[in-house]
Amino acid sequence: MLDCAIIGGGPAGLTAGLYTTRGGLKDVVMFEMGLPGGQITQSSEIENYPGFFQKGKSGMDFMDTWQEQCFSFGLRHEMKRVERVSKKGRYFELILEDNSRVEAKSVIVATGSTPKRADIKGEDEFFGRGVSTCATCDGFFYKDREVAVLGGGDTALEEAHYLSNICSKVYLIHRRDEFRAAPSTIERVKNTPNIELLTSRTIEEIRGDSMGVNGLTLKNLNSGNLENLDIDGIFIFVGHNVNNEVIKGEDENFICDVNEYGQVIVDLRMRTSLEGLFCAGDLRVDAPKQVVCAAGDGATSALEVISYLQN
Ligand code: FAD
Ligand code: NAP
Repeated sequence: MLDCAIIGGGPAGLTAGLYTTRGGLKDVVMFEMGLPGGQITQSSEIENYPGFFQKGKSGMDFMDTWQEQCFSFGLRHEMKRVERVSKKGRYFELILEDNSRVEAKSVIVATGSTPKRADIKGEDEFFGRGVSTCATCDGFFYKDREVAVLGGGDTALEEAHYLSNICSKVYLIHRRDEFRAAPSTIERVKNTPNIELLTSRTIEEIRGDSMGVNGLTLKNLNSGNLENLDIDGIFIFVGHNVNNEVIKGEDENFICDVNEYGQVIVDLRMRTSLEGLFCAGDLRVDAPKQVVCAAGDGATSALEVISYLQN
C-alpha cells in the first residue's frame, strides 16, 4: 500500500513528489504516462519562473533539473497511464493502463490541462515559433510588435486585452460577429484603441518561414474574400480541456466535486470534496495556468497529505 500516489508528472506532480518524500513519506509513486515535465516542455522559452533566468533555454532544459531534485528524496516514477481512481473504504485504488491495480492511502491528482487546437493549416508547423496558447508566457516576446488573437470567449478577450498592454497592435479574430465573453469584458476590449476586431472571419492558413510566423490568410465569411494580415504572432484561445478522466467513475460520475467546466473544486489546502483525495495544478478550479502556481499547489497538497496521514 502506497502512502501517496501522485497522478501526473508535470510541475505540480513533481513538486508534490519532492515535498512528500522530503517530508518523510516512504512509499510515494508518481504515475506519469510519458517523460516527467508536463506541458512546459513544449515551450521554446520560459522567462517568468523566479530564479530561472537563462536566455534562450527551452521548457525542456528548464525541467531537466527538476527531475534530478524531485527524485533525490526517494520519489519513484512509474511510466504508466492511470485509467481510473476510486475510493474503497478508507483507501484508494488506481487502475493502470495494463489493468494492474495499486492501493494508496492518499492520492494527489495533477493531470493538468491541454489547450485546444483550432486545427488550422500551419498551426502545428509554427507552434512555439509564432503560434502560442499562452499570453502570460509568450506575450513579452512580442513587445511592441503586431499580433493576432483567435477566439471569442472570455479567455480570448481577456488575453487580447493583456496583450494590448505589451504589443503595438492586437487583431482579435472571431468566426462570428457576437462574442461569448462577459459584456463588461467585451466593452473593455472595444474601448481599447490598439485592439482591432476582425469578426466573421476564420483563419485559413498561418504563414511563415524559417524565422517563424509572418502572416495569416483570413477568410471573410460575409464576402467570401480571402485577406492577408501581416503579424508576428498568433495566440489561439479556443478553449481548454482539463484532463479529468481519471476521476470519472465507471458510471461516468466524478468521484469528487467539479465545476461546470470539469475543473476540480478544491479549498486553499488543495483538498477535494473526497477525503484523502487532493488536486494540484492546472486541473483545479481557478488555476492561473502557470508553472509557478502549479508548483505551489504541488507543495501545498503534499504538506496536506502528510498531515492527513499523521491524523
Ligand atoms: P501539466 O504540465 O499539464 O502536467 C500534467 C502531466 O500529467 C502531463 O505530463 C501528462 O502526461 C500527465 N498525465 C495526464 N493524464 C495522465 C494519466 N491519466 N496518467 C498518467 N499521467 C497523466 N507557464 C509558465 O509559467 N510560463 C511559461 O512560459 C509557460 N509557457 C507555456 C507554453 C506552452 C506551449 C504551454 C502549453 C504551457 C505553458 N505554460 C507556461 C503553462 C504551464 O506549462 C502549465 O501551467 C503547467 O505545466 C501546469 O502544470 P501541471 O503539473 O498542473 O500540469
Ligand atoms: P470558450 O468560452 O469555449 O470560447 C471558445 C471560443 O473559441 C468561442 O468564441 C468559439 O467560437 C471559439 N472557437 C472554438 N473553436 C474554434 C475554432 N476551431 N476556430 C475558431 N474559433 C473557435 O472558451 P474560453 O474562452 O477558454 O472559456 C472557457 C470557460 O471559462 C467559459 O465558460 C468562460 O466563461 C470561462 N472563463 C471565465 C473567465 C472569467 O470569468 N473572467 C475567464 C476565462 C474563462 P464560438 O463563440 O463561435 O463558439
